[in-house]
Amino acid sequence: MTYEKRYDGRDFDETRKVEIKMGVIPRANGSAMFSFGNTKAIAAVYGPRLMHPQHLQNPEKAVLRCSYDMLSFSVTERKKPGPSRRSSEISHVIMNALTPVLQLENFPNAVIDLEIEIIQADASTRCAGINAAALALAHAGIPMTDLISAVSVGNIGNKICIDITKEEEDYEEDGEKLATDIPVAFAPRKNRLTLLQLDGKVKPEVLKKVIEAGNKACMKINEAQKKALRDLKMETELPEEEEK
Ligand code: ADP
Repeated sequence: MTYEKRYDGRDFDETRKVEIKMGVIPRANGSAMFSFGNTKAIAAVYGPRLMHPQHLQNPEKAVLRCSYDMLSFSVTERKKPGPSRRSSEISHVIMNALTPVLQLENFPNAVIDLEIEIIQADASTRCAGINAAALALAHAGIPMTDLISAVSVGNIGNKICIDITKEEEDYEEDGEKLATDIPVAFAPRKNRLTLLQLDGKVKPEVLKKVIEAGNKACMKINEAQKKALRDLKMETELPEEEEK
């Protein structure tokens, strides 16, 4: 038995329905909602503003503080509220995925707070969170050299699947878990990989295909993100593309 047809009937290289809403939190300096089907993330950006207490200031650049969390009822089994090891890890990897394109040196001694809340979860929440966060940062007018896009790639029963669901993440054959989850993020202009995680096992030759498939999917997601900014007439916030 192999995973021949996806549970929800999608093509192997197809994401769930991507939905984007900008400016969902009027009090924030920038905000966006990004969904992959039933996985829905909201990101809000506050700042840049002067960092307090003063000893946390960096005179060379702004500090990005990133916080990721899931609402208690975002999953079917109520999640214990409050921070956890998982949320700290995800906050950290999201910050690392976004920082390479942020021109933080424009704001010495400042802090930028990025809050990501998962309001409904069906796997791939860190990727939805990154996509929402990149849009919220652009909406807040933070200068960026590129717009980050992320997607989870699964190796499910030896099939490479884009944007996996929880059901796919739990895929088993004969009682053996045969699902590997590999979230990736790209800065498309320089084709730079800014996130690569691996939950499970994968052969090196398969990993190469996984990254290629993830890259292709991220390019499509990037188009949807750019369209959302264009609809707000914000694409010009990204500097002109440099010669490669
Ligand atoms: P990601 O959401 O980025 O894929 P994980 O692989 O850690 O990150 O989580 C996969 C999925 O497992 C989540 O999207 C969510 O659907 C579910 N999940 C995670 N944590 C919990 C929890 N505490 N309770 C119930 N479901 C959870």
